[in-house]
Amino acid sequence: MSALGLRCGLGMDVHAFAEGRKLILGGVDIPHERGLDGHSDADVLAHAIADALLGAARIGDIGKLFPDTDPAYKDADSLVLLGACADAVRAAGFRIVDVDSVVAAQAPKLSPYRDQMRENLARAMGIPPENVGVKATTTEHLGFVGREEGMSAWATCLLSREGEM
Ligand code: MG
Repeated sequence: MSALGLRCGLGMDVHAFAEGRKLILGGVDIPHERGLDGHSDADVLAHAIADALLGAARIGDIGKLFPDTDPAYKDADSLVLLGACADAVRAAGFRIVDVDSVVAAQAPKLSPYRDQMRENLARAMGIPPENVGVKATTTEHLGFVGREEGMSAWATCLLSREGEM
């Protein structure tokens, strides 16, 4: 533990597009011709944030807490999983200070949904929306994101030892 009792976390996730799936990002059901494939609702943004939190607290990752081989998590609401990760972080003695994130997607345009995503994610983690950043970028048609084969998301977070900040 640092002298300030601070920890930073980094999370990253990727999901492929699939036909016949809803597109759920930050808990928002976004109109699009395809959704992301996965065992849960495949909310790539919520998953990246969950891994940032768990990483900062050094308590594993989302795949360890919620294995995709477990039928209990089939089609799971990832905001519920994120909430459970936030609870685990608090149980380990940390407060969630701040979260920032970015989604890489060629389409659809995500900015109209940004504030709703921030509110949903903040509520799931039990922190104010002001402390949750969500950004989006294309990859200028490069790579798997640019070919619209899937999306990726990255997140960082700052935790403090309970009572120290
Ligand atoms: Mg995932």
